[in-house]
Amino acid sequence: MKPIYVVQPSLPPYEEFIEEIKDLWDSRILTHYGPKHQALEKKLVDYLKVGNVEIFVNGHMALEAIFNQYPKGSEVITTPYTYASTTQAMVRAGLVPVFCDIEPDWLTLDPTKIEALITDKTKLIAPVHVYGNVCRYKEIDEVAKKHGLDVVYDAAHAFGVFADGTSVAAIGTAAMFSFHATKVFNTVEGGCLTFGNDALRTPIEAWRMYGMQGKENASLVGTNAKMTEMHAAMGLCNLKYVDREIGIREQIAKTYRRELEGVEGVKICPVQEGVRSNYAYFPVLFTKDETTAVRDAVADHLGQLNIFPRKYFYPITSEFDAYKGMFEIQPTPIASVASNQVLTLPLHTGLTVEDAKYICDEIKKVL
Ligand SMILES: *Cc1c(COP(=O)(O)O)cnc(C)c1O
Repeated sequence: MKPIYVVQPSLPPYEEFIEEIKDLWDSRILTHYGPKHQALEKKLVDYLKVGNVEIFVNGHMALEAIFNQYPKGSEVITTPYTYASTTQAMVRAGLVPVFCDIEPDWLTLDPTKIEALITDKTKLIAPVHVYGNVCRYKEIDEVAKKHGLDVVYDAAHAFGVFADGTSVAAIGTAAMFSFHATKVFNTVEGGCLTFGNDALRTPIEAWRMYGMQGKENASLVGTNAKMTEMHAAMGLCNLKYVDREIGIREQIAKTYRRELEGVEGVKICPVQEGVRSNYAYFPVLFTKDETTAVRDAVADHLGQLNIFPRKYFYPITSEFDAYKGMFEIQPTPIASVASNQVLTLPLHTGLTVEDAKYICDEIKKVL
């Protein structure tokens, strides 16, 4: 059997991409906010229903761009149950992560545990819409307002997700989306930052462009994090298919849910009321005990069948060697146990409903 991976990049029809990039041979505009860059930003403003979209070379740099807007040494209340990028971006920007535990249903930042971690150095909260699950944003917002904090969302997994009719791009001070090859919408590598406050445009754009405002003077210390025209072209093509992509994912995700719901020793995230999901990932927790034993046994068994789910997210970022001795690490027992138990099942448009059923049957055999 052909191997089944956890993700598989989506590509537009070959001819459409070739057609989209043809005019680059005439214009010779390959990067630097060319027409495709501008067209993609405009289309994303419409699709994501948000005031401002700034696209970047990748999602990680979009996160660094926003974290760099805060004074070095500021504390950020964040979740360790995420991809390396979230924590690395804030640390590289000179901020200090303060790890807050997650809530057990959706594995997102627990709003009830934020307040106890606030000090006079706290400047922002950085939650993650992990797996595309929407954070309890109204409660997070209340805490933030009460203490005068900003909220920057890592929405890398949540492209196209709406909660109570509101795009997640429009929730919080800013949100970051990843357009990495393996995400629901891709530009090969790429990402964006979305925000409502127009005043953020100038410093964010300058940071992305060596700190330059205009052609001669650098007004701040920045970097190069622009997206090329080739990548923007891929985005323009892929964006046409993203709703279809989400529709196919929905069928696979619903099959997993049907087959695994109620199985003893298995926990899956409950459906979120009022949320238009993008079915980015399908995490499963093996809850027979709090160790990695069952999860690893399932992963090994599937691996022998050429099926490769991933241990997203294991370990939690607060356990990374890189941070040993750098700052205080707060205990997050729910996140620790979830990361021992979790396996993210294959979910992409190359899969069929039959594949998903087969994977569930094999999981049940191990259990
Ligand atoms: C993919 C991802 C990122 C980083 O995005 P890139 O575009 O790969 O740089 C950040 N956070 C999370 C949760 C991600 O999954």
